[in-house]
Amino acid sequence: MPKKQFKVVFDRDRCKGCELCKTFCPKKLIEMDTQVNARGYCPATMTDQTQCIGCQSCAMVCPDGAIAIYEEE
Ligand code: SF4
Ligand code: SF4
Repeated sequence: MPKKQFKVVFDRDRCKGCELCKTFCPKKLIEMDTQVNARGYCPATMTDQTQCIGCQSCAMVCPDGAIAIYEEE
């Protein structure tokens, strides 16, 4: 069976750069962008999407509901 692939999507302008998602990702796949968003924060981004295990930790911990995770076919 092929390995499941997940897509993590950040709502870039909703993110306040608190880094909670980065801290809680067990695979350490989240980094902060160097470009600021519309609110002036450096938002979270994915490093290697293909390594995501879909655990949802990042989405659950985000206080602003800025992360959605989709399972890809
Ligand atoms: S779903 Fe899990 S593995 Fe994937 S980015 Fe979020 S915390 Fe990391
Ligand atoms: S937890 Fe949410 S608000 Fe905080 S850095 Fe991550 S995406 Fe942004």
